[in-house]
Amino acid sequence: MLFDFHTHTFLSDGDLLPMELIRRAIHNGYTAIAIADHASASTMERVVREISKDCELVAQEWGFPAIPAVELTHVPPSSIAPLARRAKEFGAKIVVVHGETVVEPVPPGTNRAAVECKDVDILAHPGLVTPEEVKIAAERGIYLEITCRKGHSLTNGHVAKLAMDHGAWMVVNTDTHSPGDLLTEEFARIVALGAGIPESELETVLVQNPLRLLSKIGVSIGPAK
Ligand SMILES: [Zn+2]
Ligand SMILES: [Zn+2]
Repeated sequence: MLFDFHTHTFLSDGDLLPMELIRRAIHNGYTAIAIADHASASTMERVVREISKDCELVAQEWGFPAIPAVELTHVPPSSIAPLARRAKEFGAKIVVVHGETVVEPVPPGTNRAAVECKDVDILAHPGLVTPEEVKIAAERGIYLEITCRKGHSLTNGHVAKLAMDHGAWMVVNTDTHSPGDLLTEEFARIVALGAGIPESELETVLVQNPLRLLSKIGVSIGPAK
């Protein structure tokens, strides 16, 4: 099984139409994909509405779980909770927050605001996330991302170590912007192992955690048509 809850289309800064991204994910053997285009107060409603149309069509015609999501990006930390709530009202099933990666000037306080928000599902590339933030994520069941994305991935080892120390749930996401970024099962394993996640934990991180997240949002996995 192969899951990816953080991908982009040309509705933000990715290369592909949502439909082509979904089609290529199916071709790669994905079990489910979430499309989480960058958004802020300006674009969020439009982006979620447009992604949802292709996700609905794909579910109807191919029975494939493509999930409308959003990645709240560089927004003021104080706005994360209200924007995450509105994203869900607009139809986003998953809210990802663009965390404090070490390669961008993400506003300090973003990681903290994300793990404290009940409408946030995944804190993406959280950089030098603190033990306290990881503990809150663990208590609240917010997933910490191990990322395949260059630059953001510099701190994967730090994130994985703290997550394992404090019992926080992790998922591996690609942060796909181009078709070549999409995962294979083998590459997902390599990224997880490279982050220091032991072989014995791979099934949890790559399969059980994604299935728990899907179950929380009411998505069931069936055979593709
Ligand atoms: Zn991001
Ligand atoms: Zn992203």
